[in-house]
Amino acid sequence: MQSLYVHFPFCESKCHYCDFYSLGKEKTRESDPQRFELALQKEASQQAHLLDESLDTIFFGGGTPSMTPPESMARALEPLNLSKRLTASTEWTMEANPSSIVFEALKGYRALGVNRISMGVQAMRSDFLKALGRVHTKEAVPEALSTVFRAGFENVSVDLLCGVPGQTEQDLSEALEILTQFPISHLSCYLLTLPKQNPMSRSLPDDETQLNHLLWVHDWLTSRGFDHYEISNFAKPGKKARHNLNYWHGNSYLGLGPSAHSFDAQNSLRWKNVSSLHRYAALLEKGETVIEGQESLGTKEKQLEKWMLALRLDTGFPIDWLETDFQKARVDLFEKQKLIEAHPFDPNRKRLTARGFALSDQIIQALA
Ligand code: SF4
Repeated sequence: MQSLYVHFPFCESKCHYCDFYSLGKEKTRESDPQRFELALQKEASQQAHLLDESLDTIFFGGGTPSMTPPESMARALEPLNLSKRLTASTEWTMEANPSSIVFEALKGYRALGVNRISMGVQAMRSDFLKALGRVHTKEAVPEALSTVFRAGFENVSVDLLCGVPGQTEQDLSEALEILTQFPISHLSCYLLTLPKQNPMSRSLPDDETQLNHLLWVHDWLTSRGFDHYEISNFAKPGKKARHNLNYWHGNSYLGLGPSAHSFDAQNSLRWKNVSSLHRYAALLEKGETVIEGQESLGTKEKQLEKWMLALRLDTGFPIDWLETDFQKARVDLFEKQKLIEAHPFDPNRKRLTARGFALSDQIIQALA
């Protein structure tokens, strides 16, 4: 496996919309960080043999990895001998939040080998940040980005949310203006989704407003040199997120930490770790596995996966994948509706348009 994901399960506070596994400070015991470090070290020892000698990408996600000091990360991952597996081109991303950016710690992450930061900004209006349960202020964002660039990181991505109740194009414009004053190389713009029981879910904008905002963000960023290369992702040339591209190309990856997923492409095998820090640590303390579920992909799942992965990228799919008359008729219809287009650089491929990206769920269901 040439890609490694590590899940860091701590956050300052739980955001209202978040369904990743993480513990806010109020649910974190004082001994948890140390217990996590030792458990991760044990899991790293168990799984080190699955990694290739050199790694293409590493991703520290969570949770908020920037809450874990670099020395603790280094100790936990010592069994993987990461420094020996790095090459000149290894992409090593760490997620961070504006409120947990410390200049000295950033230097430490760089010394470890981290060379890309993905910053969770989400919104640039104080009332939105509060409604979303974010702990940082809008003023903290430019300050944090300045610190990241001052610490020497050149490859920096930011996450922004679209579809926040009450959000207007003016809000998106102001947020993008502030963020792109920095030399960011990548931006992810996700549509806010909420479970029905969340009171904010009743105020989510309607489908048409969501679609218009997504198209507006597409126009704004592509007119400023960003490529819209995946449903929710935009990159400056040469700066696509390679770790995520490995997922979308169906390559193998090893996931460590509570709730982490792994995929063995050769054997079409996917597995998932337990989603509780306490169970994760207790199992590893007994020398047991933390894998709680394993799934072998059959022909039908592989077919669905193939379409899902291809349609989400701007490289699209080869036209010889269209085997049935039904598929061909659907693609003709989607082309008429301007949801699918001929690939501009490859006559043998088709791909989703920006409007198609925004409505990709329906298209995937129709073609897979
Ligand atoms: S900081 Fe990120 S991982 Fe943590 S609760 Fe908020 S959205 Fe979830």
